[in-house]
Amino acid sequence: MPTIYEKNNLRRVINASGRMTALGVSTIDNEVAKVLVEAAQNYVVIDELLDKVGELISVHTGGEDSCVTSCASAAICLSVAATIAGDDITLIEQLPNSAGLKNEIVIQKGHAVNFGADVCQMIRIGGGVPVEAGCANRVSKDHIRGCITDKTAALFYVKSHHAVQKGMVSLEDMIAIAHEKGLPIIVDAAAEEDITRYVAMGVDLTCYSGAKAFEAPTSGFVTGNKQLIAAAKKQYKGVGRPMKVGKECMMGLTKALELYTKRDNDAYLKTLENRVDSLIAGLTGLPHIKVSKSADEAGRTIYRVKVDMLPDSPITAMELVDQLKAGNPAIHTRDHYSNVGTVFFDPRPMFDTDVQLVVERMKSILAK
Ligand SMILES: *Cc1c(COP(=O)(O)O)cnc(C)c1O
Repeated sequence: MPTIYEKNNLRRVINASGRMTALGVSTIDNEVAKVLVEAAQNYVVIDELLDKVGELISVHTGGEDSCVTSCASAAICLSVAATIAGDDITLIEQLPNSAGLKNEIVIQKGHAVNFGADVCQMIRIGGGVPVEAGCANRVSKDHIRGCITDKTAALFYVKSHHAVQKGMVSLEDMIAIAHEKGLPIIVDAAAEEDITRYVAMGVDLTCYSGAKAFEAPTSGFVTGNKQLIAAAKKQYKGVGRPMKVGKECMMGLTKALELYTKRDNDAYLKTLENRVDSLIAGLTGLPHIKVSKSADEAGRTIYRVKVDMLPDSPITAMELVDQLKAGNPAIHTRDHYSNVGTVFFDPRPMFDTDVQLVVERMKSILAK
């Protein structure tokens, strides 16, 4: 069966890369799809729905309350806006112009990253003025304290593989500094899987993407402190308006979170490992490559297929990646080590039926 994209003359994609915005992030479960349809076909008072969905999200996060958003980036904007304008409608309508208000957001220089867009721009859209502490590879607690003034609205921490992982101030220390100064701390946990951890650590506002780890339709949320969440919701009367979330995505997110938190993790990991094993079995013995099973860099119990180009290979790993992408279906890999001759296949976004197609394409590329 052709996909709806193929019917529109777009290539099918085999995603062996990850939860990438550039490839459509993730796919939803049938149960979530049913909820989307039912929600889209009826009316509701949106303010009542916002409150209800906030309650339903909070059951999973442990937050006092939560605010559903169109994505994690929107959660960042609304969180920043909430710490600057609060629930004052005059200030809310004035944003993103925050001249004269407490509007500085302190972020470690090694956290001022581009995740596909610049995180500091998301802060500015919410009316924030990012203040970068320290250097890209070294930030101390004194750098953070030194950036805090009577203009500071919040501290901001990015939990992500995009951020510099060494020489930064820990989240524990950032939380302690924020709270000793009576300031809120916002955490960008867009792609994180642990839905309770940051709330439990005392983070005031934690921002998640719905479509990444939780496989929800396009959505996001911020969870945490009741008063700040109320202020975040109120930003929908201001800068939040162009970030409007559809009622169906709100309901789809709640269903996806329910499925995620009750998932049998051992069975899920076993499915992934089986997919990795069958891909390895298919690729082993192909010319010019060495195939192995690779554990996750971040220490999670997930495996990927690692393909190293042998020295005799007539094509480089970068050329292999390009040829895989150029074909139909387009095959996208984790290619951030292709410059040193290694390509990874991530089993999580793949379908079982993709394995054979990947093996056949690899065979035909490497036979040349
Ligand atoms: C993906 C990502 C975002 C943006 O998430 P969206 O839901 O796509 O808006 C923000 N920060 C980090 C660290 C990310 O990885």
